[in-house]
Amino acid sequence: MEGVTSLQDLPLRTNLQGLTPYGAPQLHVPVALNVNENTHPVPEAVARDILASLAEALRSVNRYPDREFTDLRVALAGYLGAGLSAENIWAANGSNEVLQQVLQAFGGPGRSLLGFAPTYSMYSILASGTDTTWIPGVRDADYELSPATVVSEISRTNPDVIFLCSPNNPTGTPLSLETIAAAYDATDGIVVVDEAYAEFAPVGTPSALTLLPGRERLLVSRTMSKAFAFAGVRVGYLAADPAVTDALRLVRLPYHLSALTQAAANAALAHSTEMLAMVDDIRGQRDRLVVELARLGYAPHRSWSNFVLFGGVANPQRTFEALLAEGILIRDVGIPGHLRVSAGTEQETSQFLDALARVGRTDVAGKTESVRAE
Ligand SMILES: *Cc1c(COP(=O)(O)O)cnc(C)c1O
Repeated sequence: MEGVTSLQDLPLRTNLQGLTPYGAPQLHVPVALNVNENTHPVPEAVARDILASLAEALRSVNRYPDREFTDLRVALAGYLGAGLSAENIWAANGSNEVLQQVLQAFGGPGRSLLGFAPTYSMYSILASGTDTTWIPGVRDADYELSPATVVSEISRTNPDVIFLCSPNNPTGTPLSLETIAAAYDATDGIVVVDEAYAEFAPVGTPSALTLLPGRERLLVSRTMSKAFAFAGVRVGYLAADPAVTDALRLVRLPYHLSALTQAAANAALAHSTEMLAMVDDIRGQRDRLVVELARLGYAPHRSWSNFVLFGGVANPQRTFEALLAEGILIRDVGIPGHLRVSAGTEQETSQFLDALARVGRTDVAGKTESVRAE
């Protein structure tokens, strides 16, 4: 077909002109540590159970699926605990879709979304897709976020919606419940705590779920993509006041969660202990990354997630390319002097550390030189 030659020729919405789509590279490499997946596959016994559920669900796919994904909401409420029940739960095809629905309901033209940069790159993309104004708020030193800073950024920008990433991607930085509560008290808007990596926090750390009672504008989003090793299935969810889930029903597409998705997620949740069995191991590899990166001369940041952001990289792009040449894919998140790496299996993590020790030596040396030269 001839005619349209490029995006510029199309009558695109003004606020989308000149933007670039989300684009973490999807390359087939031996060691992929770039998008914070759980690199351990679903356990064999659980996979068999999921397959049986899928086979059964397949028999009735001539009918639309349960629009209310009732069984899934019951299962997710059971998994979260915290006194939640099905009417507190919402789910969609990944937490990205959940967050998009939140902006469709509570953001939109003439409204704004405050996040605290550097943070999850999808927030600004979801904002432009829903014509919500994105406001990148500032953080404290070392990417921390104190109650005072959150409150002053909220009063400075007066946002309609606030996304708090806890722990923060791409920095790994934990967020205290005090900061979340202070943000809530400082706004009349919607406050979303994105807990995509909550399961990787130290054992016994309280979740923002504990703040939900009495806070009807607080939403806590989670995903099965990371700790649950389910990124390919696309299931994200949130917990909130039932009025919030009613609001999301106004914007969701009918039957947005396929019968196969619901069946797979239900079967996986029935095995949550086995599905989460590798979380301890991943936490251990994350802590090992922090120790070993420091030993190699880099400056890793503290992390409560399954990845580590490390500074002290003289030329991130060169180091990224050199690792890729060895079959190891990590992430250049655009923070000067930094790269981000996901905690893999013990073997993958070793391969990354060994390769970095080889290829990165010039970078650490280069860094030292450039610091001296300044
Ligand atoms: C990975 C990630 C998500 C999860 O996205 P899904 O759509 O559920 O796969 C959400 N928030 C953050 C901060 C993430 O890093």
